[in-house]
Amino acid sequence: MISKHHPRYESIKVRERLVDGHKKGITVLEGLIAHGRGEAFDYLLGEKTTGPASNAIRASAALLVLAECPVISVNGNTAVLCPQGLVELAEVCNAKLEVNLFYRSDRRARKIEETLIEHGADRVYGVSPTEVIDGIASERRMVDKEGIFKSDVVLVALEDGDRTEALVKQGKKVIAVDLNPLSRTARYATVTVVDNVIRAVPELVKEVRRLKNAQERGGRDGGDLSSDLEMMVSAFDNQKNLGESLEVMCRNIFKEYSFSEE
Ligand code: ATP
Ligand code: MG
Repeated sequence: MISKHHPRYESIKVRERLVDGHKKGITVLEGLIAHGRGEAFDYLLGEKTTGPASNAIRASAALLVLAECPVISVNGNTAVLCPQGLVELAEVCNAKLEVNLFYRSDRRARKIEETLIEHGADRVYGVSPTEVIDGIASERRMVDKEGIFKSDVVLVALEDGDRTEALVKQGKKVIAVDLNPLSRTARYATVTVVDNVIRAVPELVKEVRRLKNAQERGGRDGGDLSSDLEMMVSAFDNQKNLGESLEVMCRNIFKEYSFSEE
């Protein structure tokens, strides 16, 4: 039993959830290692949603509201870290939830489907995928005909660079949540939110809700928000935003360094 007063209580609880997810057959050991890589970057971010991440969240929400067929891709880690948030996000932006796994097995895919349904999802795609996305060497290439295959916007987290690149090559807009601004995923995505998926997903839900409400009010007043949202998306410069997240990390390192020198 971990004391709530332990200085790393939250981080330890998250690790316990992932280990528990592994025991239930949802997360794989490799996913636990991937989480460790993320934690290191989160440390450098100060474990909070930064200004650049908030800007990327706003652009992502605009993309999701404008999308005709948005899909939220779910893997073992995200199914354990934020199942409720993913289901809510799918609900607010009329998106489909699709299981997509690097280490795929039918059993794992069904376990993730079960988890999402337990958290309120009506339907989960990708449990029996039939279509293939070219240019991906792993099991991640298998997608649902009614889901990612025909989507125009895909949200991914803890993703692989080759799938992000392949999805973009197919003409899809990709929103990535990735704590590492240097990863291939972060660089290839249309919009990258450099933040922990645990914090970013609830913020995305809030932002999509805000935009949807504004859209409804605009509709009643005869205004059209779509062109504003399109402008917001085209004004977003992903490479610049990634640079800003790196700057936050560098500033945090120097702050710590000068602190220890005093
Ligand atoms: P890429 O394939 O994009 O080059 P990679 O091979 O370096 O990335 P992977 O193991 O494929 O990394 O993917 C894991 C990614 O997810 C890492 O970039 C890691 O920082 C990030 N990550 C881990 N945990 C979280 C989390 N909780 N929230 C957001 N991102 C996370
Ligand atoms: Mg990778």
